[in-house]
Amino acid sequence: MSYPTCLFCKIVGGTIPATIVHQDDHVIAFEDINPQAPTHVLVIPRTHIASLDTLGDGDHETVGRVLHRAAEIARSRGLMPDGYRVVLNCGPAAGQTVYHIHAHLLGGRGFGWPPG
Ligand code: AMP
Ligand code: ZN
Repeated sequence: MSYPTCLFCKIVGGTIPATIVHQDDHVIAFEDINPQAPTHVLVIPRTHIASLDTLGDGDHETVGRVLHRAAEIARSRGLMPDGYRVVLNCGPAAGQTVYHIHAHLLGGRGFGWPPG
């Protein structure tokens, strides 16, 4: 499913450019336009899911693929054994701004806890 007004659906459809670092039948990964770390990649499903809050029973495999791809990209960039962070913001209090589910892969520096 694709939403014509969704920014990330437009990246999936190729009508908005992005620096794509991986794509397959299920997921696309691209560089965040406003990187918060030396590695800041967004991993998204091709299909439109608004957020974790709207996940359905049929979406489990899709989200698993998103997280697995984040780990594969982290490995390919040598982010282990130092480590990295994967973030899914859900809703306004968490700072979600794009309502097409995405995992932020952040790495290449240290991260504090608790997050801001
Ligand atoms: P969130 O705040 O969790 O919804 O994250 C949305 C992310 O999308 C932010 O980190 C933005 O910098 C990023 N972003 C917005 N527009 C684009 C774009 N056209 N290409 C790549 N990343 C984008
Ligand atoms: Zn979308």
